[in-house]
Amino acid sequence: MSALILIVEDEPHLAEVLEAYARQEGFRSERAADGNAALTLYRAARPDLVLLDIMLPGRSGLDVLRAIRAESATPVILVTARAEESDQIVGLELGADDYVVKPFRPREVMARVRAVLRRASAVLEAGETPLRVGPLEIDRRAVSASVLGQVLQLTPTEFRLLSHLAAAPGRAYSRQELLEAALPDSDALERVVDAHLAGARRKLEGAGVNGLLQTVRGVGYRLSEV
Ligand code: CA
Repeated sequence: MSALILIVEDEPHLAEVLEAYARQEGFRSERAADGNAALTLYRAARPDLVLLDIMLPGRSGLDVLRAIRAESATPVILVTARAEESDQIVGLELGADDYVVKPFRPREVMARVRAVLRRASAVLEAGETPLRVGPLEIDRRAVSASVLGQVLQLTPTEFRLLSHLAAAPGRAYSRQELLEAALPDSDALERVVDAHLAGARRKLEGAGVNGLLQTVRGVGYRLSEV
């Protein structure tokens, strides 16, 4: 069955345009015009991807993202106005997979949707044996990272970054390398890597693992046993 895209957008014309393009791409789609409706529909329909406007009546897009991330790793692409740059950073820290800036070209949005869905399924197909670095175990087939049996609730981008680092423990990767590995079709900035890895580090520390994800000054990051 084709992927189901949840389009959350309060401007009816924009929502209609996005829906028309999504359907032209062969996707199924659902639409919500405010944050509460978005969450209700999200829980009922379990979409494969959410296109999420930040400025919504009532509950904001960032609130909706927070609620989605509290229960799943469903890919989310934020739709923001150019003036909301700080919201973009917060959104990526909260676990959004990518963002597009208004005014956007619908074709570009659909290219991002395809890229994010492709990455999500590539992770599913990766498989092989689990990667281990110290107490961290990454099962790419199950898209699951755990510490001594305790599953970490990582976002898809956090998962891809940690997987990439864990494939070569001890090797330092530049932000650019990590960006290309985890967000290859995105024009995201290198600091986006910092935002996602800050999230991953918090979750590792929450599981009692300190010092495994290391910042390498002037270079980037590595995963290494202390
Ligand atoms: Ca809006």
